[in-house]
Amino acid sequence: MIVAMQDRASEEQIQYVIDQLVRMGFEVHRSTGALKTVLGGVGSQTDFDTREIEMLAGVQEVHRITSPYRLAGRNFRPEGTIVKFANGLEIGGKNIVVMAGPCSVESREQLFTVSEQIAQAGARVLRGGAFKPRSSPYSFQGLGLEGLKLLREAGDRFNLLVISEVMEISQIELMLPYIDIFQVGARNMQNFNLLRELGKVRKPILLKRGISATFEELLCSAEYVLAGGNYEVILCERGIRTFETYTRNTMDISAIPIIHKLSHLPMTADPSHGTGRRDKVAPMARASVAAGADALLIEVHHQPDKALSDGAQSLYPQQFADLMGEIRMIAPAVGRTIA
Ligand code: PEP
Ligand code: MN
Repeated sequence: MIVAMQDRASEEQIQYVIDQLVRMGFEVHRSTGALKTVLGGVGSQTDFDTREIEMLAGVQEVHRITSPYRLAGRNFRPEGTIVKFANGLEIGGKNIVVMAGPCSVESREQLFTVSEQIAQAGARVLRGGAFKPRSSPYSFQGLGLEGLKLLREAGDRFNLLVISEVMEISQIELMLPYIDIFQVGARNMQNFNLLRELGKVRKPILLKRGISATFEELLCSAEYVLAGGNYEVILCERGIRTFETYTRNTMDISAIPIIHKLSHLPMTADPSHGTGRRDKVAPMARASVAAGADALLIEVHHQPDKALSDGAQSLYPQQFADLMGEIRMIAPAVGRTIA
């Protein structure tokens, strides 16, 4: 931490700040100029609040130079993390992985129709919610266990891995036999008890950015899972809440290169929730590939007008197939291929 004292701060004030830094576990390096004193606090601890120093008399400003997350930081694994699956699929390597499927699992007919079409177009992972976090308690809440069984069956039939959202701790055990990746939704990004439990699981976790979460908050949430011993964490940008109302959320493409700089974890883009509009999903998916996304998460429905959730942002299967063709052309321009 760097502490700049106010001009002409008294020796007593400076000494008090030094004592506090030492008490917090820092080794203190002092440099004194004609008017100003700057203190450098060096140490490996990450658990401190810079406001404790900011509020002291004579302090002008304080800068944190270490991040509050350690395991999620790029320095922990500079070469990057590749999440590997038993079938050979890898997320975070040279190949970009496309995950697609309906927002919610609605019926066998729906899931099998969509699964066959996305598999044919080149998706490698089937998405579908069995437990749905809905803004209204009166909206469709998901098929639960029946939905999980259908996902596994469709995944096995069309050679797709399966990702589905876990909303609470009690669902983890229930989901384990049926899914390959646990999705933690935007609304649960800071459900720390859930994240801690997922740290004990030996299956990959896809952690979505909260609707108003900073990158630091996202990475601190990933840290909960990593600190529990589960190193297979995949992050996901799914749009954030801004003042714009034209789109459902504002898709933050810059999150992709920024997370790649701050963290070694693979980064996914979800342009479906990121825009909330079917006509804007493909452009944002193409942009995400160009920006370096390691995976895409895309909602597809064969009858979106009849979908029980998120129909407006679900691609028709043909639109999805067209998008696959486009990203197959874009990926090589940025040194990637589609898995
Ligand atoms: C979803 O993937 O359908 C979903 C609910 O996503 P999010 O948590 O990003 O809103
Ligand atoms: Mn959805």
